[in-house]
Amino acid sequence: MKNILVIDDNENMLKMMCDLLSRSGYGVFPAMDGAQGLDMYYAHRPDLVITDLIMPDKEGLEVIMELAKLTPKPKIIAISGGGKLGPQTYLPLAEMLGADHILEKPFHPSELIDYVKDLLV
Ligand SMILES: [Mg+2]
Repeated sequence: MKNILVIDDNENMLKMMCDLLSRSGYGVFPAMDGAQGLDMYYAHRPDLVITDLIMPDKEGLEVIMELAKLTPKPKIIAISGGGKLGPQTYLPLAEMLGADHILEKPFHPSELIDYVKDLLV
């Protein structure tokens, strides 16, 4: 079974994504912020990381920068609804820093699953 780490400070979003992914047959590790997410990454070495960008403590961009330094680099999907500057600013930055796919909130569940399948073949 492929395992996915999901990081989002919004509890409802986190639960929605984790339910969706586990119903689709993936193992799921949920985390509520970037610091907790990185701890979980090192503890479980999941195949894919899905991370929100705007979070307290440690932001998604910092998580992506740290993961991008690893060999092999884990697969990463960045999701964001924006913040002050909007998703148009943060999502392309996430892609530059190492995200394999970016997804703007709100998104349809099938969009997320399509990206996950694309990265976990
Ligand atoms: Mg957030």
